[in-house]
Amino acid sequence: MAGIIRDATVDEKKDFIEVKHKNRNPFQVKLAARALKHTKDHTPICIRCAQLDYQDKIERVKTELERSQGIIQGDEDKIKRLDFNLDDYARLDRFELLEVSDAKEASIVAGQKVHVLVGKNENFRCKKRGCGITVYTPIEEWNEKHPKDAPKKSTEAAVTAGSMM
Ligand SMILES: [Zn+2]
Repeated sequence: MAGIIRDATVDEKKDFIEVKHKNRNPFQVKLAARALKHTKDHTPICIRCAQLDYQDKIERVKTELERSQGIIQGDEDKIKRLDFNLDDYARLDRFELLEVSDAKEASIVAGQKVHVLVGKNENFRCKKRGCGITVYTPIEEWNEKHPKDAPKKSTEAAVTAGSMM
């Protein structure tokens, strides 16, 4: 057995770091990907509740393992890979829509500083724990999704805006 136990060479250490990187918690990777999907779709998901429930689930599993066999080598990895469904955290009936507000950006039009409507912010409240979630939708996509809110013709909108001044 002599010679088997030794310090890792530099090359081997590099491999260890790569392995460590690959071992990023699969749940966090899955959650990040899902959050990005919702940002792109402009739909709500409660990341906070998903994190909290996942932690609870891990704790429960660990406690049960400790009670029975004690946590053995390899369990930590298995625990990290526990299946955790995120669909519940994105169900629309989970959320209460509190308010829709205009998202505006300052812009200079014909030498005048004006605020241009760039999108809509929907403020949701997660019914489970009261978490606040804001979903931003760019105005073009908002108007496609909510045709009744959209100006029927761009000229008509311009006239309306003009007459209000
Ligand atoms: Zn929540």
